[in-house]
Amino acid sequence: MNRLLRVFVTGGAGYIGTHTCVELLNAGYEVVVYDNFSNSNAEALKRVEKITGKKVSLILGDIRDEALMTESMSGCDAVIHFAGLKAVGESVEKPLEYYDNNVQGTLCLLRAMEANSIHSLVFSSSATVYGDPEYLPLNESHPLRTTNPYGTTKLVIEGILRDLYRSNPLWKIMILRYFNPVGAHKSGLIGEDPQGIPNNLMPFVAQVAIGRREALNVFGGDYPTHDGTGVRDYIHVVDLAVGHIKALEALESPQCRAVNLGTGIGYSVLDVVNAFVQASGKSIPYVIAPRREGDIAACYADPSYAREILGWSASYNLADMCRDTWYFQSKNPEGYLLS
Ligand code: NAD
Ligand code: UDP
Repeated sequence: MNRLLRVFVTGGAGYIGTHTCVELLNAGYEVVVYDNFSNSNAEALKRVEKITGKKVSLILGDIRDEALMTESMSGCDAVIHFAGLKAVGESVEKPLEYYDNNVQGTLCLLRAMEANSIHSLVFSSSATVYGDPEYLPLNESHPLRTTNPYGTTKLVIEGILRDLYRSNPLWKIMILRYFNPVGAHKSGLIGEDPQGIPNNLMPFVAQVAIGRREALNVFGGDYPTHDGTGVRDYIHVVDLAVGHIKALEALESPQCRAVNLGTGIGYSVLDVVNAFVQASGKSIPYVIAPRREGDIAACYADPSYAREILGWSASYNLADMCRDTWYFQSKNPEGYLLS
């Protein structure tokens, strides 16, 4: 029997949120999703219900609407906070929108939690808070710094959470620093459905494979990595979702800690392209293009603290990530709404 029964999930209609809702429902939790659909839609949640055969309560609202959130989370035992804007480039162009949505939205959320005496929180942070790595693999004690407003919103929120815990040790807070989430649920019903041109590698590669885009631009072929292209720690979104269940289970005593969720393995852009060719049987034309501004050469996690604190480690490999991305892409060639 889970001690925390009903979970309030902000941004639960999004990419990581939907996969986490599936794992929550399968583990016997009740789920209340709070989302403004700024980067998602109701269809994604219908598919969560289809996969699990269980009902999701949905509240259409913005996290900056503190009154609605305070009312909506009544009766919940814990919060998983995914809602936020996440495009690095857009955050450079629209910093105020990012600080308002992510930081102001989180302040509203925390006040709503206090008003309901809910003190258990799992927060979506990112490996971007480590900035350009001083050493690899990245452990949680690596210095924190950011290179763009999106990253700074995560760092500011992490600081707010630590201050909050210091002010009131009733709080039980798990900050999860995700590396690069990719892949999709094995049903092919839910997955990543970016609007417009994908910023991230895996969805772009998938759209080249399906014929929606002509070729991949590989941003930089002269990095000090094994083949000159950027190296990242790709993690299957279902592994990530399971990490959230483990994090909730670990919130038994007051704490505020940050934990990496990654595999510990770094793959280059060309490793991903080759794995995707294998998984899809499609050719993926690419050209080596100039480096993308602000990119780092390599980034991968030391996942040992997650194993120690959460009893969690990743179970899917790169071939699984490509297979599941491709299955979702081929079942939904134009995304959720047009498939
Ligand atoms: P997503 O855009 O698919 O999901 C975010 C959800 O939040 C969307 O459904 C969106 O409609 C909702 N939302 C945004 N602003 C809102 C607001 N003001 N009020 C209510 N709902 C709002 O993104 P995702 O990839 O699922 O990411 C989830 C979280 O994980 C984000 O906080 C993101 O910064 C973080 N994260 C993502 C990645 C990644 O690569 N996907 C990596 C590290 C961290
Ligand atoms: N990348 C690329 N072409 C693209 C998108 C990404 O070569 O169209 C590279 C990028 O330079 C980085 C890696 O793929 O080395 C992962 O990029 P992504 O944006 O997915 O994640 P992040 O850079 O945020 O870790």
